[in-house]
Amino acid sequence: MTCAIRDGAEQKIWARLDQLKAMRTKQGLSLKVGVLGCMAERLRDKLLDQGKLVDVVCGPDAYRSLPYLLALADENHQVANVMLSADETYADIMPLRLDPSQISAHLSIMRGCNNMCAFCIVPFTRGTERSRPIQSIVDEVRKLCEQGIREVTLLGQNVNSYRDTTAINALGLGSDLAPGFSTIYKRKDGGLRFAELIDRVAAVDPELRIRFTSPHPKDFPDDLLHVIRAHPNICNQLHLPAQSGSTTMLQRMRRGYSRDAFLSLVERARALIPNVALSTDIIAGFCGETEAEHQDTVSLMRDVAFDQAFMFAYSMREKTFAHRHMEDNVPAGVKSRRLAEIIATHYDAAKSKHQRMLVGTWQLVLVDGKARRNTKDGREQYAGRAESNLKVHFTLPDGVMGESLVGKYVAVEVHTASGASLSGEFRGVSSIREFHAASEPRGMTPTASAVAPAPVGALPTAERVVGATASSASG
Ligand code: SF4
Repeated sequence: MTCAIRDGAEQKIWARLDQLKAMRTKQGLSLKVGVLGCMAERLRDKLLDQGKLVDVVCGPDAYRSLPYLLALADENHQVANVMLSADETYADIMPLRLDPSQISAHLSIMRGCNNMCAFCIVPFTRGTERSRPIQSIVDEVRKLCEQGIREVTLLGQNVNSYRDTTAINALGLGSDLAPGFSTIYKRKDGGLRFAELIDRVAAVDPELRIRFTSPHPKDFPDDLLHVIRAHPNICNQLHLPAQSGSTTMLQRMRRGYSRDAFLSLVERARALIPNVALSTDIIAGFCGETEAEHQDTVSLMRDVAFDQAFMFAYSMREKTFAHRHMEDNVPAGVKSRRLAEIIATHYDAAKSKHQRMLVGTWQLVLVDGKARRNTKDGREQYAGRAESNLKVHFTLPDGVMGESLVGKYVAVEVHTASGASLSGEFRGVSSIREFHAASEPRGMTPTASAVAPAPVGALPTAERVVGATASSASG
């Protein structure tokens, strides 16, 4: 399974293919080698030429033909299907889950992207946007709950541009863009939108956590923010891919917003969803990036203080608008230096925010297992994710068996924080409803009721439930 979004991801696949070739030629193993996904779409001919290593090449909209392709491929025949589809959503295919202990699942709700950002290859490898019918998504979520899944992440290349046109009278919620944002393509009216979908998914089971990725900032109208706020089981965490902090750079990237519009979205999100955690994507060294434009990105990282960020140096991709019309003219050394500055600024800002706002608070953590490392003094730790999606490591009091907590929601008192994770101490088993009932509305005014009966240790005090109070919500 391959990704084509950055050159680094493709280089890993070429290296893996060399390993497989050695296994086949030197060790004599009988292997059928298939390359699936976006890289297959992009590089079909090159993959088929490369020393006859690859037997099957299958693009992201052609997986239904995999059994057929595998049956046809043999040592004399390479086969490929990389046809893009205008309507394939795999809505009727339920993934087979082989690991019964799995507590979280990903669920694809839409495919493709219409945005054509200048740097991005996704519209060329995934095609245009199309969405699964709402009912097929709700049904799959219900089945996942029955299988014991506690957290679902809704997936799409532009997930919050979701639009189900199959429902009768589908006028829907949330058809507007966020204020100050535009698109380069003509928006279509009608259809059930993401706000409607996530409202219905959240109602399936109030003890199922919902996340979604990857959104575009333009598709966060206020009614979507209100829906997120209204459901305690929709994590109060938004991914807002900024890509750059410079308005002129954002124009060249064809992102459809300015720095000010992005900052006003951040403000609205923080005002409407108390204690919302924000993450972002950033590209360093896109075509023609000046030092002043780079400094705008550095200052954006400082000013917003994202909780998490995914930061990369730009690598030009064939077929994109940038490849056809621009020059990849920022030297590699400059890109690396700028990326390092952006990363350092992000971790400084995130660490200071987490230490200021989260140390001393109680976080609701979905436990996923034993932590890889013990504490410095040798105590065993367990780990999970807070609503913010930050990793949380925690110790247990004597007598509490960590394994019995896997897949459960627990309250953890945070003692230390870094730019990327939190550490603390287990305070009790909880649930989404109990935890949030103690802090309604959404972390603003915690009440005196307990988060949950703590099997061992003290019950939480009101001020420490959930996290920061209203006054610190703007981060
Ligand atoms: S919105 Fe995202 S997936 Fe779509 S073109 Fe832009 S960067 Fe690529």
